[in-house]
Amino acid sequence: MKLQTYNNCVFCGSKKMKIIKNQSFEHNFYTLAIKNDFNLKDNFFSKMKVYNCQKCYIIQNNPWFSFDDTFKIFNEIYGQHNRNWNNVLKFFKKGELPNHGDLFSLLNKIIQIKKYAEFNSPFMGLMLNFFYEDHKNNNKIFFEKIFSSALNYLFIRQQAGLSKNQIKKNTKLAKEYFITLNNLKQKKKKNSPKIFKTLIVDNSHLSWLYNDNYKSVNSRSLASGLFDIKVKNFNKNEKRVLYDLFGIFHTLDHTHQPKIILDYALKNSKFVIVYCHVDNELEKQHLFSLSDKFITYLKNQNIKVLNLTDKINKNYNSPEQYFLCSKNHKLPKL
Ligand SMILES: [Zn+2]
Repeated sequence: MKLQTYNNCVFCGSKKMKIIKNQSFEHNFYTLAIKNDFNLKDNFFSKMKVYNCQKCYIIQNNPWFSFDDTFKIFNEIYGQHNRNWNNVLKFFKKGELPNHGDLFSLLNKIIQIKKYAEFNSPFMGLMLNFFYEDHKNNNKIFFEKIFSSALNYLFIRQQAGLSKNQIKKNTKLAKEYFITLNNLKQKKKKNSPKIFKTLIVDNSHLSWLYNDNYKSVNSRSLASGLFDIKVKNFNKNEKRVLYDLFGIFHTLDHTHQPKIILDYALKNSKFVIVYCHVDNELEKQHLFSLSDKFITYLKNQNIKVLNLTDKINKNYNSPEQYFLCSKNHKLPKL
């Protein structure tokens, strides 16, 4: 377990990093798990100090875990993205959409969304809203059944080590789940608009990847099986697709290339919606976080920004922010 120095800002590359005064360190359940599993002492954590970038205003720990150890944090110690999966379970079992206040209806009012992309974690943003819009003519049982069909179908295809008999039985069951799933998917609202949806993944070591599972099913496999979406690897040089909206929901601070991702989103989409933490304190399981002054930096870069934090009727449990931004398109006045 090694500490690595991160002297330059991980977002903008600036060397102007100013240490924040009077820092103290307290464990939370993430850092306690990291401490336990890596067999660390508390002073390992207290060596990490929080700095504030004087150019883009993000806050960042330095030193912090090495690049390779980061993989272990997000793929072994905390492989499952708790909030991502709670969003799925609450939706399919209780009919509650992820809490983004009135964001979805507001965005639909101001943007004609025909092509939508979202970055990394599939259940953190608007994919569940789009799914609900297509299928809201159905009852509670429908939502429970389509979820269990998709989950069981993916789970039951895990056949390594089973007897021939079990494999035969499971193959038959898999086919049944698959047929049920596809029949249910057809039960859409009449004249439901066709929206082209893409999940773009960058496989950063700061993100939840191979173990972001619930009952052995990975979030990206479930999203691909359940939703009408394309899952695509991030490639900044790909042929340009112009999206109407690009969603980044708590995932900009979970990639090692945040500026490249945001630049890509601004270049390839008319509008970009960002949802992020803006805590003044940075916990030790995070390399960095955006801050409420990040919007000022974007405006300095000639990017148009509309802060939606207080416009969507949402009660916040912790300091968070929503903002809509664009490079070339005019933002509405609210
Ligand atoms: Zn910076």
